[in-house]
Amino acid sequence: MAEKTPANRGGHPQAVHPRRILIIGAGPTGLGAAWRLKELGHDDFQILEANPYAGGLAHSFTDRAGFTWDIGGHVMFSHYDYYDRLFEQVMGDDFVLNNRESWVRLRERWVPYPFQNNIRYLPPADAADCLVGLVRAQACGAPSALDARDFGQFIDRAFGEGIARLFMRPYNFKVWAHPPEMMNKHWIGERVAVIDVERAIRNVVEQRDDFGWGPNNQFKFPKRGGTGEFYHRIAQRLRPHIRLSTRVVHIDPVRKNLTIVHADGTSEALAYDAVISAMPLDVLCTRVVSDAPEDVRRAAGGLLHSSGHMVGIGLQRRCPSTKSWMYFPEDNCPFYRVTYLSNYSPYMTPNQTGANDTHYSLLCETSASPHKPLDAQRIVEDTIAGLENAGLLEPGERRDIVSTWHHAVEYSYPTPSIDRDDRLSVAVPWLERHGIYSRGRFGMWKYEVANTDHTLMQGVEVVDRLLLGEPEHTIGIVYRVTEDGREAASHDRPKVAGSGEKRIARTNTPSV
Ligand SMILES: Cc1cc2nc3c(=O)[nH]c(=O)nc-3n(C[C@H](O)[C@H](O)[C@H](O)COP(=O)(O)OP(=O)(O)OC[C@H]3O[C@@H](n4cnc5c(N)ncnc54)[C@H](O)[C@@H]3O)c2cc1C
Repeated sequence: MAEKTPANRGGHPQAVHPRRILIIGAGPTGLGAAWRLKELGHDDFQILEANPYAGGLAHSFTDRAGFTWDIGGHVMFSHYDYYDRLFEQVMGDDFVLNNRESWVRLRERWVPYPFQNNIRYLPPADAADCLVGLVRAQACGAPSALDARDFGQFIDRAFGEGIARLFMRPYNFKVWAHPPEMMNKHWIGERVAVIDVERAIRNVVEQRDDFGWGPNNQFKFPKRGGTGEFYHRIAQRLRPHIRLSTRVVHIDPVRKNLTIVHADGTSEALAYDAVISAMPLDVLCTRVVSDAPEDVRRAAGGLLHSSGHMVGIGLQRRCPSTKSWMYFPEDNCPFYRVTYLSNYSPYMTPNQTGANDTHYSLLCETSASPHKPLDAQRIVEDTIAGLENAGLLEPGERRDIVSTWHHAVEYSYPTPSIDRDDRLSVAVPWLERHGIYSRGRFGMWKYEVANTDHTLMQGVEVVDRLLLGEPEHTIGIVYRVTEDGREAASHDRPKVAGSGEKRIARTNTPSV
């Protein structure tokens, strides 16, 4: 494959200079793109959002009882100066700085996270299994995790039999709702803390705590309104450009126009020069863009994802814990993660005095897929029973529940399946040849760069590419033109985000 004209990488990517830009989705990706367009003085754009609110998966809801809920526990760990400065500019001092405190629930005890560094908290027989497995896995001549063919094999080879059986395999199945053998291992970077055997052994022998949290591990959280408040404020500043309750149902890539349907059922056609889309890529290629070739439809249509059920439990009682969030690998409860959301800000409960002493809230996340079916009608009751089984609700504490909240999302986690990058290599370049730039958590389908900071910056970076010809750093896709003239995309682990390197510095200040 000869690399002739890199479209978005290296020193001289080409700017496209589209005039009219339509953005699908007012989640972090769409809002990031819109913010950057305003900042660069480009006014000819609209955001089209199906929901009656902005924020996408980063929106927050306040229920009738006065508890505020996020769509799953959202923690902001930014990799970007630009994102940090945007947060400062939009939120000012309206945030709380929290210490991260995360735990794993196993064998009726709490093990500090990272699990592998705190094996000493396990019953002795389990601790011995974990250490023996680790030593065997890392022994000279043992097969290397680096050569693993999939995530399942990676787990076994990197962590050994004990940790794999007790924690890594059951926990990951609960999160991903897919067997780890169906997943690639490329997304693993900072997302799965990899093991240091000597440290694990020393921590057990010397009875040393190794929590990985503390003053250097803090995160900001909006004082009021939950995670969504940040995106709500961005959307307010972009309001004239945003059309809510407006669903994109059809894109004609040849005529370059798209069709929207309003809440009252009426429809309208809009012309465009470029589309930035954050809707799920499989839906875009199989149901919205007309006449996509069969290989593009097949490639995008075969991407895998899991759904999510977020259940909030609001209690009238003083919070019994300082924990932030907890992981649950065992099958005595449906959820994989629970967050003490009221510990993120004292204004997340009906008590708005800031005292945080009369109520608390638990946000519980459960995944589902064809590999892990779930009865949605029972999920609230199953969650409460699971909280009791897992020791989070004391017997009798049920009567203190004053609110329950259930929010289901069809697209929750983009599964990094074995063939994901091959599929993206077919669909993404074809769309771009037709002026459609698919970005974001389900627009790009790359879990390793699918947090709020990554997705907002995918929006910013694609605008920089279109208007300034700058390379996109976050998505980790390199576009190549092969000798036969075919355009193809290959995938790099992003060098600057989601892979261990912490920050991308930018010099320009956000200023809409
Ligand atoms: C359970 C869970 C936990 C998470 N935890 C964290 C965390 O701890 N930290 C973190 O930083 N991030 C976290 N995230 C990720 C974060 O929510 C996403 O990064 C972010 O919301 C993705 O933004 P987006 O704009 O790409 O997509 P979305 O937020 O999905 O927004 C896409 C938007 O497009 C709209 N849309 C779709 N189809 C159409 C259509 N046809 N017409 C018009 N509009 C359409 C949707 O309504 C939606 O508003 C979490 C996500 C989940 C689900």
